[in-house]
Amino acid sequence: MHDQDDFKFDTLAVRHGIQRTHEGEHSEPIFATSSYVFASAAEAAARFSGESPGNIYSRFTNPTVRAFEQRLAALEGGEACVATASGMAAILSACVGLMKAGDHMVSSRSVFGSTVVLFNNYLTRMGIATSYAPLTDLAAWRAAIKSNTRVLFVETPSNPLTEVADIAALADLAHQHDCLLVVDNCFCTPALQQPLKLGADVVVHSATKYIDGQGRCLGGAVVGNAQIVGKDVYGFLRTAGPTMSPFNAWVFTKGLETLRLRMLAHSAAAHALAQWLREQPVVAKVHYPGLPDHPQHALAKKQQSAFGGVLSFEVRGGKEGAWKVVDSTRMLSITANLGDVKSTITHPASTTHGRLTPEARLESGISDGLLRIAVGLEDIDDIKADLLRGFNA
Ligand SMILES: *Cc1c(COP(=O)(O)O)cnc(C)c1O
Repeated sequence: MHDQDDFKFDTLAVRHGIQRTHEGEHSEPIFATSSYVFASAAEAAARFSGESPGNIYSRFTNPTVRAFEQRLAALEGGEACVATASGMAAILSACVGLMKAGDHMVSSRSVFGSTVVLFNNYLTRMGIATSYAPLTDLAAWRAAIKSNTRVLFVETPSNPLTEVADIAALADLAHQHDCLLVVDNCFCTPALQQPLKLGADVVVHSATKYIDGQGRCLGGAVVGNAQIVGKDVYGFLRTAGPTMSPFNAWVFTKGLETLRLRMLAHSAAAHALAQWLREQPVVAKVHYPGLPDHPQHALAKKQQSAFGGVLSFEVRGGKEGAWKVVDSTRMLSITANLGDVKSTITHPASTTHGRLTPEARLESGISDGLLRIAVGLEDIDDIKADLLRGFNA
């Protein structure tokens, strides 16, 4: 067709991974088929033995899913991508593909809630142990590494406090100790941050969030090199089957086409809202990497091409004050989800972080007055007006 290697990000987002059929369709088709037919017994045998490439069964080969995998791999700058049924399925597949019983992992402390449950309650049963380190404390990461550590796992920026980890420094640390760095790139997406180019080995995604962008489908992905992802993670998916459906892959492929435009719009709106929130008398503190007094502002500026769509802030009056703001909204969606064109508001201390003890919450900086907003694409004036109702109450 054409030399895709030279294409830039926006072109890859629109054009990469297309396998046009004999029908000449312009938009990517959906292959809703579980299996494939072979021209002969010999062809079937060659496919199954791996001698000839081609589709076999949609648990591990589907053209619509492949189009999404190829496009996302190109955008992250990875050789291979494995699409999964959800973000959690991506994290599970990466962990099982990369580690075995007796291995150890170090993770940043402030990762997604279900990720912690997966590590603590399920990977431990398979003999894989996890230690935790504060996201920004490199010395603590170093101290947590043991002789059997195989993986460093980090989610940056963190949720809900938007702390930023130094991906290049963590990649160096990992490689000094013969470990792999896995980055959950859900909050930034490759449109704002490309961890593989900073030295990370594997990127995991919840495609459910910004890659879809309109809150419709669950999905995930693992991206990395041809051996680790193309063979080790793919081998697990092929056998265990936490597979992405063709319909969802189609939605995500179309989502990638507008991903950078949306991420820039989400970021611009969040930045403007963060600045406005700082001027509100009822707001004690605003957490957003785009603000000059954010502790990792300089790092975020270097590592990301924009600051993302998620921010959090502390209102005076503790839980009562925070709940008043939430309950006074008429437009914002009260939900812990994020990465949608619709803005969402959540009270972390009583929802996503409600299972932590009050001491553990305090230690991770989740105060009772903290609110998180994933800023959508509504008019910013309407978002401000919706919050002002609660601020004035
Ligand atoms: C939502 C989320 C996940 C899990 O993804 P699902 O698609 O819900 O399984 C993992 N990591 C982060 C950062 C998330 O926000």
